[in-house]
Amino acid sequence: MSEENSKAILQGKVISPGLAEGKTFVLRNRLSQLDAPGLIEFKDIEQELEYLDDATASISQGLLFLATKVEKEMNSRLASVFEAHQLMLNDPLLKLELQAEIRENLVSASSAVKAVFLRWEKRFQMMESQIAQHKGDDMRDLSNRLSNELSGIKIHPLENIPAGCILVATRLLPSDTVHLSQHSASAVLLEYGGAGSHAALFAREMGLPCIAGIADIIKKIPTGALTLVDAHKGEAIIHPEAEDAEEFHSKVHKQQKLFAEARQKAHEQAVTQDGVAISVLANVGCRADTEKAMENGAEGIGLYRTEHAYMGRITPPSADELFDEMRDTLAPAIGKPICVRILDIGADKLLPFTGFLAESNPALGRRGIRFLREYPNLLETQLRAVLKLTSEFDISLLVPMVTLPSDMAMVKEALKRLGAELGLAVLPPLGAMIETPAAALSARRLALYADFFSFGTNDLIQYTFASDRDNAAVEQYTVNSSEVILRLLRIVHEDVPDMPLSVCGELAGGKEHIAALLGSGIRALSLASPLIPAIKEVIRGVTQVNVSEDSHLAEKMMLI
Ligand code: PEP
Ligand code: MG
Repeated sequence: MSEENSKAILQGKVISPGLAEGKTFVLRNRLSQLDAPGLIEFKDIEQELEYLDDATASISQGLLFLATKVEKEMNSRLASVFEAHQLMLNDPLLKLELQAEIRENLVSASSAVKAVFLRWEKRFQMMESQIAQHKGDDMRDLSNRLSNELSGIKIHPLENIPAGCILVATRLLPSDTVHLSQHSASAVLLEYGGAGSHAALFAREMGLPCIAGIADIIKKIPTGALTLVDAHKGEAIIHPEAEDAEEFHSKVHKQQKLFAEARQKAHEQAVTQDGVAISVLANVGCRADTEKAMENGAEGIGLYRTEHAYMGRITPPSADELFDEMRDTLAPAIGKPICVRILDIGADKLLPFTGFLAESNPALGRRGIRFLREYPNLLETQLRAVLKLTSEFDISLLVPMVTLPSDMAMVKEALKRLGAELGLAVLPPLGAMIETPAAALSARRLALYADFFSFGTNDLIQYTFASDRDNAAVEQYTVNSSEVILRLLRIVHEDVPDMPLSVCGELAGGKEHIAALLGSGIRALSLASPLIPAIKEVIRGVTQVNVSEDSHLAEKMMLI
């Protein structure tokens, strides 16, 4: 901003919706320059190598601790980032390069870390794929951690941000998000950050309004500027005028009122105008999520992402350990229907004990059930734990990343075998996640092995539009994806009219999609629980769910 204190309106894209007001705090770039090398003498080499080893071991331990904490308190996907960091840090090639830097250039461990990590960061940034670019961020994050450890600095730059500030940053690194949760800002404005990025995931989880895509943000916004953030419109007003503030406050007031009203009715059933009751369930990953889900009026758990139970572990849990963890997570929902998804690992969700899978296109590689077919012991442990849960909970089981009928047949077979071994008379219902176009178009054959279908629309969109859900650069391909996805939903409904259908992807949390989803045969929605009160209200306003003419008309009008 050129003129001091003059009003400016900045536009970006909504990463996490909400309204917030506060003074800005600008987080300047760290470690953008390579410091002058700290030269050492030949005799100091071993000492510096030792410092490096100690710092690496300490960070490594800290990362595992962090992964466990984040997994318990926030989100499994975010936790997996720290596990991936831990693996990167211990990569033998990286270690060799760091040691060589110290030995051959006679520099301190600290200088070696800065030089080597900057090289790796640049290598990743020069690659085209967004995943590689994310890895560049990861490298920078690790470099900061190691440098701080080596120089004894343990204070993170976000430790001292003013409470309630509007945080302004070029980008957020994965480790930043943990500090943000403890020293909370009221909103975040970023230059870079896709809807599927770590920052986005975190912001939505925390209900933190966030806008990204504001070019040169650091130059445009000073620290301490009063700012109004409307992360519904994707707009930030810096140095607002009196009328801007007035308009904004009335918006905040209206939103609070609507939310309070919806919250009051959240524990009542959601029935449409023409009398169709819709189950509104929650997506959870840990006990805190389940507790929150019950407070928000969830009628059960529509998606339990069990990856949480595997995070932060060096070895996979035993069936008993898994049972204890799942039981604890689900306890607040006892007596309500619970759908447990078996492990959806692979692609970007890695586990320390499986190591890196060398795949050039991991999202199209071994993930979900494909991965479990390769590791049948992992599948068996989960099925044993889930079968044990059925004596206390109303459980059904969901299979992720289904492509072929044989994916389902294999799980059904294993379930039958283990059920017989455990002497169970009744097995839990088995569902297929419809996340690939192939699954949607094979509904009749999948139905031979499935008792219900749940649409994972996050992945269904990604795979239908061939557009990486974590890559902001191809986001525009999925902006209007709902029409195409609804068409797939209707095909499934027409092919298997008696099959119970639910949606557990983000589409279920979008108010604008609810009427069309219900009109396409969906009778259960599972979503992030803070959205439940509002979505129940939307359902109550929907008319003529049983008449699908509207949707057929919409289909005819589509040029597809
Ligand atoms: C989905 O893909 O829509 C889904 C619910 O699964 P996840 O987001 O865990 O991949
Ligand atoms: Mg999915």
